[in-house]
Amino acid sequence: MVDFSENKAAFNMYSALDSSVPQFKVFLKEVALLFGLEFRSDIYIYTVLSTEEKVLVDFLGGCPAEPHCHWGDDIAVRQCRLKNFIESDDFAQYCTGRISGGSVVSLGVRPLLQACLASLKLPQWVKSLHDKLDHLNGHDESFMVIICVNDFNEATLKRMSNLLVHEWLHLLFFSNGVKFQNFMKNDSSAWLLDEGLATWVEARFATGKWDNRQLMEEKFHFLKEKGAPPTVTGYYEKGAWFSEIFCSLPKEQWADKLRGLLQ
Ligand SMILES: [Zn+2]
Ligand SMILES: [Zn+2]
Repeated sequence: MVDFSENKAAFNMYSALDSSVPQFKVFLKEVALLFGLEFRSDIYIYTVLSTEEKVLVDFLGGCPAEPHCHWGDDIAVRQCRLKNFIESDDFAQYCTGRISGGSVVSLGVRPLLQACLASLKLPQWVKSLHDKLDHLNGHDESFMVIICVNDFNEATLKRMSNLLVHEWLHLLFFSNGVKFQNFMKNDSSAWLLDEGLATWVEARFATGKWDNRQLMEEKFHFLKEKGAPPTVTGYYEKGAWFSEIFCSLPKEQWADKLRGLLQ
């Protein structure tokens, strides 16, 4: 069992999600069958980390987003700057700014991460991260979905359940070569199609129905009116698009349609 002694919220979240994993996998299998995809049960792993731990894994896992990008694109460079990063204002601000969330990192970075953690004299939470990584059962091709939470309640559990399913849907599609970013290299917003697809199918998990166009459009308008950027509203805009396309076809045609969209 993973040592969660430092973080009760993470322990509760891990346990609650753990008991739902069979249900999540039944759903993923249903999606795989519908879209003609292979479901490899062994690549779907996850852990629950504190915010600090998640930021650190993102940092060394090569996350290209802010604030990590200011510390170099190259992982070797970041590795050298790790201690400075942890002691920086960037790190402190990022950790207090983020309440909860998730990301996907290849388990292939685990040896590097653990070597970094072992080489530095760092606070106690770093040791606990080292142990948590040890307990993840998976090979290098596996991806760890990292969820971080600072509190555990009904609302966060529901959000994190949907988030885990969303990230696992990305893995399902990507591990089957369904990745719009790779097929549309000249279109810098192609990744939003990958997000839209996962967001639409995630909505099926949450609502129990496939036709989620109205829900997606409502979210799109709601966020737009709040001033959210296209990189955020796009999830729902594209989600509505996928819902419309697929729900106008019989399910027997979904597998072919998905492959067709990638060409
Ligand atoms: Zn990041
Ligand atoms: Zn996503």
